[in-house]
Amino acid sequence: MRANALHEDAVVVESVLWRTTCTLIRSNDEGFVIDSPILPDELDLLPAVAEQSGFPVSGLLATHGDFDHLLARLAFPGAAMAVAETTAARLRAQPGAAQRELRELDERFYLARPAPLSLGQLEALPVPGHLGIGEHELELHPADGHSVDGMAIWAPWLGLLICGDYLSPIEIPTPAGGIDAYLATLKRLEALLERAQHVVVGHGGVLTAERARELMSEDRAYLESLRTDGAAAKLPATRRDAEQRRLHAENARRRG
Ligand SMILES: [Zn+2]
Repeated sequence: MRANALHEDAVVVESVLWRTTCTLIRSNDEGFVIDSPILPDELDLLPAVAEQSGFPVSGLLATHGDFDHLLARLAFPGAAMAVAETTAARLRAQPGAAQRELRELDERFYLARPAPLSLGQLEALPVPGHLGIGEHELELHPADGHSVDGMAIWAPWLGLLICGDYLSPIEIPTPAGGIDAYLATLKRLEALLERAQHVVVGHGGVLTAERARELMSEDRAYLESLRTDGAAAKLPATRRDAEQRRLHAENARRRG
């Protein structure tokens, strides 16, 4: 697990698995953990990372309801988790889905965990909306398209955008929530990039706003091509490995 102190009020941790990011953010004596690492050792270490960096943990947030982003309660079992209303509705409609997918991952890689995942009482946040943290406010923006739910989190005083599973340098777009919705989210993110210094992406770490813009145009081109050409669509040049081709085949099947 890698930890990157981005700013005195933001630390980004990256899981070895899928390079899934987890962001610690604080203002005064309030702090949130956004998304989560995945491996048991990484979740074990997370409270010490927060404590040593002087980051209080007042609550947990998740950008969307895919199970690999929902694991922070394994590290902070007493903390409450808040998600976008769309994510709360998705998780309510599929009770136990995240737990089942985590169990499948653990069985496949023989991972043992000290306790099962419990999401507790989820708080549903209105999105678009604001969420107070210390003397500042986070802006919450709708970010569906990768999945049917989700939010991007904008921290204005840090110039930091935490966008969930968009703009990844390592993973092609997977528009399970629809290509149109995905493109609409990219448009919203594009407006936020105007003001951003850094972007934390769901998989692949921290990007400059400039790099995020490059990926945005690659992702748009890929999605337009997926819509018209299906399986024949051209993958972005640096994202054509076997796993990306597998995801692309899934995308092409889902489109039809
Ligand atoms: Zn993900």
